[in-house]
Amino acid sequence: MVRKTTDGMSDWFGWFPLSTFGDGRCYIVPGMGNTGVFETDEGLVIFDVPIKQYAQKTFNEIRQLTNKPVKYIIYSHGHFDHAFGYEPFIEEIKKKGWDMPEVIAHENCIKRFEKYRTLDKYHDWINKQQFASVRGKEQELLVSAHETLDPTIILRGNEDSYSFKLGKVNFEIYHDKGETDDSIWLWVPKKKTICTGDLMVSSFPNVGNPYKVQRYPKDWAIAMERMRDKNAEYLVPGHGKLIEGKGKVKDVLSITAEAMHFVHDEVVKRLNEGKWFEQIYYEMLEIFPEKFKKHNILRPIYGCYRFAIHASYRLYHGWYNSGNPTDLFPAKTDDIAREFLKLNSEEKYLEHAKKLYSESKKQLALHVLDIVVKGTDEKNVETLVEALKLKVKILKEKVQDETSFIAGNIIDNSAYQIKKRLKELKKKFN
Ligand SMILES: [Zn+2]
Repeated sequence: MVRKTTDGMSDWFGWFPLSTFGDGRCYIVPGMGNTGVFETDEGLVIFDVPIKQYAQKTFNEIRQLTNKPVKYIIYSHGHFDHAFGYEPFIEEIKKKGWDMPEVIAHENCIKRFEKYRTLDKYHDWINKQQFASVRGKEQELLVSAHETLDPTIILRGNEDSYSFKLGKVNFEIYHDKGETDDSIWLWVPKKKTICTGDLMVSSFPNVGNPYKVQRYPKDWAIAMERMRDKNAEYLVPGHGKLIEGKGKVKDVLSITAEAMHFVHDEVVKRLNEGKWFEQIYYEMLEIFPEKFKKHNILRPIYGCYRFAIHASYRLYHGWYNSGNPTDLFPAKTDDIAREFLKLNSEEKYLEHAKKLYSESKKQLALHVLDIVVKGTDEKNVETLVEALKLKVKILKEKVQDETSFIAGNIIDNSAYQIKKRLKELKKKFN
């Protein structure tokens, strides 16, 4: 189950019933990520397929609605929750002897699949941490990209678009960078509908995800504005329920564009003022406008503003981000901690960490605790165990205070790893 602190995440996970909208021949079928289905007289256009584990369920649900053949599958991007659950659709096509569908994606989606094949285990390790609370902490995510349904129509370059007609309905596809460099979105004028993929996920955009490669806040803003100019009546987000009504669609696209411009431009301004990351970060927290904090579509339940500051900084800056040459070729953190422990005992540091914790200075308490955790010899097991236990306690409390699902999982999973270490220590020294 998703933790209590991640209110709103049930929509993100697609735990809501499918719905029909527009002319009654448009459907949004949730399967972690959403599948948008458009029925025409000549067949179906499908925007995104679900996560592999939900593929059969989504397929069955679509087949309750329509028996038209699938003619086009469009990948908004190549993430596992948008491009992997295609099998039942293809099986049906083969069984019925229908023509294989066209599969549309951006060229970077193919490179993404290749990257996943190269970094299979690594991505599983990352995703285990990002989704720890729903998948269980030790479970494989089973999102291997070794078998993919590769695109037959490929959008190339930065400015590309593609359109086609099926059953007298025009479908317009556009490429813009945002969460990924392979993202495309769909505009169906006759159905007055936009499908955004993960450019809209019913949360603050997932820009600056701590584990993931660079994402694109400025391009994201531009994508939102291009979508807004279509004046859509319906918006199918990558995650979350259908957004309905011209005014509402315009509002969510506008405010997201504004927020992405804001975070990007304010970071750039500070880079031009010669500021280092720490100063930029804390200044940015101070100036975050109320209108963004209050807007429902920008709730920090998945991505969050704090991560977006990192994303904007990383767009233009290298890894040396402190301006302190001590950090250019730093010593090992364990060695640094040991030196601090030569000045004062473990007990003293532990005592001080407890004091900070009692004053609700949890983050500072963690920094002081790390001197004990990192510098103490394992033989000093009692103090080490006490420090680790306090660290777990603080981390668990931070999880409860945390709004972002991603941040919450990272902290929660770390607490779990420490608990595992505590068990090992108990075994070793009992
Ligand atoms: Zn997604």
